[in-house]
Amino acid sequence: MIRSPKKMHELCRALSRRGLKIGLVPTMGALHAGHLSLIRRARAENDRVVVSIFVNPMQFGRNEDLGRYPRTLREDSVLCRRNGVDFIFFPGVGQMYPPGFASCVQVEALSNVLCGLSRPGHFRGVATVVAKLFNIVRPDNAYFGQKDAQQARIIKRMNDDLDFGIKIHVMPIVREPDGLAMSSRNRYLTPEERRDALVLSQALRAAARMAEEGVADTARIIRRLKMIVGAKKRAHIDYISIVDEESLRPLSRIRGRALLAMAVWVGKTRLIDNAVLRVK
Ligand code: AMP
Repeated sequence: MIRSPKKMHELCRALSRRGLKIGLVPTMGALHAGHLSLIRRARAENDRVVVSIFVNPMQFGRNEDLGRYPRTLREDSVLCRRNGVDFIFFPGVGQMYPPGFASCVQVEALSNVLCGLSRPGHFRGVATVVAKLFNIVRPDNAYFGQKDAQQARIIKRMNDDLDFGIKIHVMPIVREPDGLAMSSRNRYLTPEERRDALVLSQALRAAARMAEEGVADTARIIRRLKMIVGAKKRAHIDYISIVDEESLRPLSRIRGRALLAMAVWVGKTRLIDNAVLRVK
């Protein structure tokens, strides 16, 4: 495990000089099968794999769950070792944001829609920490999950706009057998909430079926989903949107493909999920 950004940087530079390909998997820890799918792909495509574990305060809002976010370093280390990770980068907050820290990366337009509306500043925090991780590790490949579709889109934009030149891979959403998208936050759910949380994936499947049957009117699909989610007493919709996959702007009709993204509060836990809808 490496804690110092400078040490991590020097080590990665030495690896690169030897011509070794580096894969980076940025995480906030509390690793689950979703993270492991990224790690395994990184393992298959690189000579060295770095997993960063950093609960990034900059991407949490004032009233969010920074304090209680699960921290399971010992279990995470075992999972990393078993899955062939070469280095865990586990910096402290003071090492990433030393006194006087004043810079940030803002990916305009993509950051103030969907989750950005209810989590102002969130994606600035994400883009800033990922830019720092990219500069520290200078990976050839970096791996992200489609679970956080907006985040993946923003990172790709940043990578292109700021000429990082890293190959960005976006891996499919890993789900529990009953359909719930895996998330470190699922462990906050009580058994009753865990049952109601299934409504997210159920709603996504209902929307996919409507699209397959030729429904292109997004307002109609969203109305149906609001009914499905609204039927669960512990679930409260933050947003349900159907947007263009590239611009993340809302669509009134689906032409070919569209991204359906949603955030739903289940009890005190905010869950997100998404799916690509296809209309022929
Ligand atoms: P996090 O630790 O939640 O910041 O997630 C780290 C990375 O794992 C992000 O790129 C996420 O999109 C990805 N990830 C989280 N959950 C899943 C999942 N269920 N399936 C695939 N990727 C995921």
